[in-house]
Amino acid sequence: MLGALMASGNTELVDADSPDADVLMVNTCAFIESAKQESIEAILAAIRKKTHGTVKKVVVTGCLAQRYGDELAIELPEVDAFLGIQSAPMVSDVLFGTASARRAASPAFSLPMATTNARNFVQPLTEKYPLIPPSRIRATAPWTAYLKVSEGCDHVCTFCSIPSFRGRHRSKPVEAITEEARRLVGAGASEINLIAQDTTAYGMDLYQELALPRLLTELGKVEGLRWVRLLYCYPTMVTERLIKTMADTPNVAHYLDVPLQHGDDGMLKRMKRGGSQSSYLRMLERLRTAMPDVAVRTTFLVGFPGETDCAFENLVRFVQEARFDRLGVFTYSPEENTPGYEMTPVVPKKQAKTRRDVLMQAQQPISLAANDRLVNSEMSVLIEGRAANGTLLARSWRDAPEIDGTVRIVNAPDSATPGDWMDVRVVSAEFYDVTATPL
Ligand code: SF4
Repeated sequence: MLGALMASGNTELVDADSPDADVLMVNTCAFIESAKQESIEAILAAIRKKTHGTVKKVVVTGCLAQRYGDELAIELPEVDAFLGIQSAPMVSDVLFGTASARRAASPAFSLPMATTNARNFVQPLTEKYPLIPPSRIRATAPWTAYLKVSEGCDHVCTFCSIPSFRGRHRSKPVEAITEEARRLVGAGASEINLIAQDTTAYGMDLYQELALPRLLTELGKVEGLRWVRLLYCYPTMVTERLIKTMADTPNVAHYLDVPLQHGDDGMLKRMKRGGSQSSYLRMLERLRTAMPDVAVRTTFLVGFPGETDCAFENLVRFVQEARFDRLGVFTYSPEENTPGYEMTPVVPKKQAKTRRDVLMQAQQPISLAANDRLVNSEMSVLIEGRAANGTLLARSWRDAPEIDGTVRIVNAPDSATPGDWMDVRVVSAEFYDVTATPL
């Protein structure tokens, strides 16, 4: 959307709090209750700014618009336009009208909204990945980038609403992804995080094979790309071939984010998840044999209907045996149009929150032990900032942006700046972070 707006030639990107902002764009999430709530609060805050005359227009995009566009258009008349997830290239036309009108409007923002009175621009999803012209503009740090390899999901997890508004799985061609990776590296990225609803399903629709290993091999040839990181993998699709490719391709980070959702076989069946506790343990063993330094992140969902004390205790035991490096826990929220919505017996919210806390506490000593093993080891880290006390803040191959820990570098030279790489030695460890000194 930013790329499409800039290509229109009469847009300047400014921070949402800037007094120069004419249009506020709110990109939303809609996959669980708390995400929806956060999105609604952001929309209401934007509407308040419009009411006070601080901005002229409010545009709402993303999953919430895709999922509830019709209802929202009625409930929130102050919003000027709702754009679904495949309507991104339309953003410029919606705001500035047709191409000729845009030229006439340049450089000032003066045109009325679009050529139509409709405010809901949510479109039905297409069967192919809609390739957007190469005009991507990122709002994040230049040294790290997310790269989406596919859209949608063909799994049928009973708690999940995502396939209902993201559609069936469809992939970008290998060539398009490697080309995008080259452009990102050319613009300063040295780390690329591959994302999708199910990254491991990459290529099934286009090539009738699990083509993620092939994609990694191609990305391995991109000069200047130091880390390719895999996020959102599905456990039964972490194949021998994928593990071998990860181990053999030098720029693939020895890191795997593989949400398992549960560790009790009965719950996995209720959730309609592939695999079992024993198959997950075998997967971890294969990963650790091929890459002894691999860091594995997972996510669990507690409080799904039917989760008994016994099933939860089984999950805690599984976590203690599996010894994940990183672990996140969500509490279940019932989502309309999912089988879980009707399932019983329901677990009270308070009990689900307690279980989340218990699981996170069970993980703490495991995280600390994993970090302790790093003390005295040497590693290359990517610098991301500097704390007020002068300590550099960085990430190692074990830390995905935004969700994992930090490597704090003490006694660092003043010349080091964000985006630089540095070789360090770990000197101490905490639950989630480690402290290091420059080599
Ligand atoms: S694999 Fe992920 S996105 Fe797909 S249905 Fe399951 S939880 Fe939802």
